[in-house]
Amino acid sequence: PSLFTAIELAPRDPILGITEAYNADTNPKKVNLGVGVYYDDNGKVPLLECVQRAEALLIATVTPRTYLPIDGLATYDKAVQELVFGAESKVIAEKRVITAQAIGGTGALKLGADFLKRFAPDAQVWISDPSWENHRALFESAGFVVNNYPYYDAATHGVDFESMLASFKTMPAGSIVLLHACCHNPTGADLNADQWSKIIEVVTSRGLVPFLDMAYQGFGEGIETDGQVVRRFAAAGGPLFVSNSFSKSFSLYGERVGALSIVATDSAEAARVLSQLKRIIRTNYSNPPTHGGKVVATVLSNPELRALWETELAAMRVRIRANRELLVDLLKQKAPSHDFAFVKQQCGMFSYSGLSKEQVDQLRNNNAIYAVDTGRICVAALNSSNINYVVDAICQVL
Ligand code: PMP
Repeated sequence: PSLFTAIELAPRDPILGITEAYNADTNPKKVNLGVGVYYDDNGKVPLLECVQRAEALLIATVTPRTYLPIDGLATYDKAVQELVFGAESKVIAEKRVITAQAIGGTGALKLGADFLKRFAPDAQVWISDPSWENHRALFESAGFVVNNYPYYDAATHGVDFESMLASFKTMPAGSIVLLHACCHNPTGADLNADQWSKIIEVVTSRGLVPFLDMAYQGFGEGIETDGQVVRRFAAAGGPLFVSNSFSKSFSLYGERVGALSIVATDSAEAARVLSQLKRIIRTNYSNPPTHGGKVVATVLSNPELRALWETELAAMRVRIRANRELLVDLLKQKAPSHDFAFVKQQCGMFSYSGLSKEQVDQLRNNNAIYAVDTGRICVAALNSSNINYVVDAICQVL
């Protein structure tokens, strides 16, 4: 027997598996609603014009590819802080927040998880039920016990806030609570401002450790509005972890651009935190790659490109919203006895459509329409060429 003889085949990634099946399907009408990326109306992942212009500037300046600092490009880290916490943020002025460039939002979560495992080894982690499918695996692989707190209520297609809050009230002090800062993945159901106040209150009073995952800033209501939850937590004091990603908002998936920010009690503490975070980075991948960070830093710090980015991001946000409206209106016309109005209330790229696993199977087998078993669909994958086909198919399985 070899070292590998006893190794079992690991299960396939459930979401990426859908795309594999979709790619293998020969039906010309096939539609992939299972994806986790933004498609434009032509069914393509856009390359934003602000990104193209920033890349042209970078090519024109011809810079050698030396190593970046361990915590990434300084101009990038600064621009991220101002975007996430607000340019006028007190925690920035007081040097209480540190930010390290990370390998996408996933890399940021993993850095935060490894950091927490070192300094809070006995804490347990709590994620929403359901959550992004990688949250559990990622924190478990960092060595944590991961629990669910109640979140989605299938009956109302919204958040079961009373149960969520009750669960927070029973968590031991020091528990790590992972929250989606906006555009909850997979449900599309977010808390309102009032509910966030109650969560911030209980997190602060019980000494819980909030970890905000913000993968969709600008996809919900807008850059500033979507950032409010982070800013409110930062203002509440106490430790705070924030992972953010530019995969969606810059359509830079493969460049792996994200960041981890940690808010500490004072600047001296923040400096010690950064020094330890750098050790974790150093022993994992030493320092991050240059290109994506430079593109984002260039766009965010150049007023003209920044304005262009905000316009392009707004167009993505508005198109998703329009898709929600159209989907609901068409379903109302064709299946008036079913109420899909809740889809309009949901936020961000995804919708828990309410379709059952059986219905999802039927859509796939009869119509080559691929959705996630849970009924999650990517609203950005709908377009003017496929929406009527999708609506007709849904009406057949209702
Ligand atoms: N968190 C959530 C909630 C996400 O939906 C995603 C990406 N789908 C990530 C983190 C990871 O982002 P990235 O692709 O930048 O690693």
